Amino acid sequence: MIEKSWFAGLNKKTTVAVLTGAGISKESGVPTFRDSDGLWKKFKPEELASFDAFISNPDLVWDWYQFRRDLIHKVQPNPGHFALAKIESLLPNFTLITQNVDNLHRRAGSRNVLEIHGNIDKNYCVKCQKRHDGTQFNGKKAPRCDCGGLVRPDVVWFGEMLPEKTIQAAFRAAEEADYFFSIGTSAYVYPAANLPVIAKMAGAVFIEINPQETPLSQQAHHFISMPSGEALPEILRILESIIL
Ligand code: NAD
Ligand code: ZN
Repeated sequence: MIEKSWFAGLNKKTTVAVLTGAGISKESGVPTFRDSDGLWKKFKPEELASFDAFISNPDLVWDWYQFRRDLIHKVQPNPGHFALAKIESLLPNFTLITQNVDNLHRRAGSRNVLEIHGNIDKNYCVKCQKRHDGTQFNGKKAPRCDCGGLVRPDVVWFGEMLPEKTIQAAFRAAEEADYFFSIGTSAYVYPAANLPVIAKMAGAVFIEINPQETPLSQQAHHFISMPSGEALPEILRILESIIL
């Protein structure tokens, strides 16, 4: 049950930060890592999503990413993504931090998006760092840059650092937030899982949306045990009634 009173006092100047994870894209038909697709079930993501895996078998890893890209390009943003984009248009001080690489937030119209784990539609060369964004690589084999280096997807792999400026902006947004939402993330992956805690310690109202409890649920001021595609349109309606 989502209560209007949770948002009492909210106005156009209220600062809101949101952290999303794979769960928000589930209703679009993008599987989370935990419910991996049949074809790839024999591999653990840890065995594919790492630099070592890529270097020892570039074509296998590239093929997995092509498979995930093809899937993501076929699906559409869901009511949860669209509601967040509308909330951003109501509240100018809004930051969306996502662990997803699927680009669905931007496709739904979100603008101020911090992609802390990268974007599956972008690529760069491991040797000269040249960007190959926007290039459609259709083959199953890992492509090569003009310099001869391997081209890799611009996503953060296990054991890699997060993009420095982006994660710093995410921490700043958490510290400044009046309201912080954690949506569809299992809250096991750090440092993302720290963001809600930092926001709460800095005084934010912390709201979690997830059909399942997570290690953070006990700390949430309000835990909404619903799919985000149902909860977020309801929250949007409440915010519209308060702000408009
Ligand atoms: P996760 O798979 O660990 O957790 C997903 C969470 O979503 C779970 O807690 C689950 O209970 C919840 N959930 C399921 N259905 C939901 C719904 N309808 N509404 C709201 N919540 C729902 O995902 P994570 O926490 O994002 O961490 C896994 C890592 O995998 C991330 O780093 C991410 O980059 C990567 N990943 C991304 C995508 C994507 O871009 N869509 C897909 C798979 C994995
Ligand atoms: Zn190169």
